[in-house]
Parts: sequence; structure tokens; C-alpha cells
Amino acid sequence: SFFGLPHQAPHERVLIAADAASGLRTMIAVHSTARGPAFGGCRLWAYENDLAAHHDALRLSQGMSMKNALAGLPFGGGKAVIVKPKGDFDRAALFAAFARAVDSLQGAYITAEDVGTTTADMRGVQALTQYVSGIPREGAFGGDPSPKTAWGVFVSIQAGAKMVLGRSDLQGLKVAIQGLGAVGWHLAEFLHKAGAQLIVADIDPAKTAKAQAQFGATVVGVEQILAVPCDVLAPCALGASLNATSIPALQTKLICGAANNQLALPADGDALAKQGITYLPDYLVNAGGIISVAREYRNEGEEGAVMAEVSRIAERVDELLARIKTSGRTPAAEADAWAQSLLVKPA
Ligand code: NAD
Repeated sequence: SFFGLPHQAPHERVLIAADAASGLRTMIAVHSTARGPAFGGCRLWAYENDLAAHHDALRLSQGMSMKNALAGLPFGGGKAVIVKPKGDFDRAALFAAFARAVDSLQGAYITAEDVGTTTADMRGVQALTQYVSGIPREGAFGGDPSPKTAWGVFVSIQAGAKMVLGRSDLQGLKVAIQGLGAVGWHLAEFLHKAGAQLIVADIDPAKTAKAQAQFGATVVGVEQILAVPCDVLAPCALGASLNATSIPALQTKLICGAANNQLALPADGDALAKQGITYLPDYLVNAGGIISVAREYRNEGEEGAVMAEVSRIAERVDELLARIKTSGRTPAAEADAWAQSLLVKPA
């Protein structure tokens, strides 16, 4: 449906905006403002068609509602997608037009970086609207959220390894990382430092070669990474990697990664549990970036305090794993119910 996804409350609104001069075609989905303004990044992607872009905006913004709620942030969930123009385009003009679309929502939606967008793009947006974050500021906390996202995923892997695999440290733990982008690379650094053994794949061979040289990582093809034997699988590329095709071939015990919307369908959470795989939901473990940009937006950021707040994601992983022992639900279903219960105005 244009209004939302099955079995979920409908989205509050979706703005569809276009600008002929710059080639902008954007959809800004505001899923929920129950906890506060809808906060979530902006993705620039070469979508197959407009419906695919619309669907992505709906899924991503709903995920942001859940993520912001579980992270205890006073923000709702929203997300913007921009359909990447074909051929050459004027990036500054595109993001200026996008900024005007964001501004027209008068603060109901706050944007930041996501896949395909950069801090430089957000600086351009900031020239035309105040409803933006994720920008390095002179003498103040802020900027690229991806190291914080990676840290949140790292501490979640530590928590999961302890609770699920009975490991007190990550020495020799085999971790397969799908995607060595902004988050995946930082995650690889943290894991390598902690003594983990890395198996990596990326469509960009320069990134995997660098990981091989710098971390002694084993490189496998993008078609193999989801089926390699490992202790932990960390999907850090794009969404829907856990689906009816990939799940039967998985050879891992724990899944914990940064990519948004890893489950293609809610039923895939059940399929993972049936296979004895513990899936730590993406929106629980990848909240480090939004915690960072939310602090920055509220002008209350300070590196140490933000890192401490991101580290507390591990406590929520512990809580989730404790909850499923009593509820008997899968981690995905439990996290959904937990987040839904928090989609109300914070006290
Ligand atoms: P990115 O674009 O920097 O990195 C993605 C990487 O995945 C790239 O290196 C790309 O080459 C690689 N890739 C693409 N398709 C692949 C495939 N089929 N197999 C292997 N590698 C593939 O993006 P990012 O900022 O690192 O984000 C990664 C994921 O984490 C995205 O799903 C994003 O939505 C999510 N996420 C990011 C943040 C953040 O702070 N950046 C926060 C929360 C969630």
C-alpha cells in the first residue's frame, strides 16, 4: 500500500517532491512522530523504479521509528530517498532542491547522511534548512556517524558472543563481514583489534585487498560471503540480504550487522530461529549513528558521553536475549514488540 507496510500502523505522511531543474525526485516518509520529530538519513540510490524507491522509504522510515524508540531518543522515525538521476548531474543543485523539500515539512522530518550521501551533501542542505544533522562543526561535536554505528555493532557482537556463544572475548572468533563501506570498515578495525579472524566481501576489490593487507582478512566473493562457515555474520551492505534464498545456506550461529532491513520479510526471522541462528535485529544494534546525530542536533554532544551512550546498546542486547528466554519469541519478534510498546511520547 502507499500508506504503509502490512501488519503495521500506516505512515503518518509521505512527501513526494520533484524539481525539474536539478532532476530531484525524492520521497520523504514520516512513519511516526509519536516520540518527536521524525529523524532519519537520506539515501541516494539508483532505484529500479519509483515504486521501489517508495517501498524503500516506507521500510527504512519504519525501521527508524523502531530504532529511535529502542535507543530511547526523543525522536520519531523518518527517512528520505532520492532517486539517483541518470548520467551526470549537479550534486549541489540536487541537494539544494532536496533541502527545500525537507524545509517544507517545517521540522516534522530531520535528515542526515545515509548510503550514497556525504557530510559535504549535508553541509549543502544545511545552507537551506535547519532540519539536518551529521555535519562536522567547528569546535563542537558532530560529523560522520558511521564510526559510532560500527562501535554499536561491535559492542553488540561482544554481548552476543558472550550470551549466545559463551565467549568472554573475541580472540580467534570468525566474523564474516558483508560490505566494507563506511561502517563495515570501522567494524573490521574494531574486530581486528579485538583479535577476531575476519572473512570479508565487497563489490569493490580495492576495499577487500586493503582489508587483506591491513587485517589479514580472508577475502571471498560477494556470492559466497553469506554461506561461509563463521561464528558471526555481520551484514553491512544493503538490506534484504537475509531471505528465503540466503537463509538455508547460512553457516553461522549469530547475525549482528549494520545494514538496515536485513530481513526481507518478517517470516525470515522465524526461519533463522528454526535454523538455530540468533539474529540481533538491525535497528537495535545499528543505533550508534542516530544516537550521535541526534546528540549533535540537540547540541548536547561530547565524544566520551556519546560513546558511552552508544556502548549501552550492549545492555539492550542483553535485555533482548533475556526477554526471549521468558517470552519464547524470536529476537526479531521480541524487538518488534518491545519497540512498538515504546512508540509513545517519552515521559
Ligand atoms: P556504504 O555505502 O559506505 O557501504 C556499503 C558497502 O557495501 C560498500 O563498500 C559497497 O561496495 C558494499 N556492497 C554493496 N553491495 C554489496 C554486496 N552485494 N556484497 C558485498 N558488499 C556490497 O554504506 P554504510 O554507511 O557503510 O552503511 C552500510 C549499511 O549500514 C547500510 O545498509 C546502511 O543503511 C546501514 N547503516 C549505516 C549507518 C551509518 O552510520 N552509516 C547507520 C545505520 C545503518
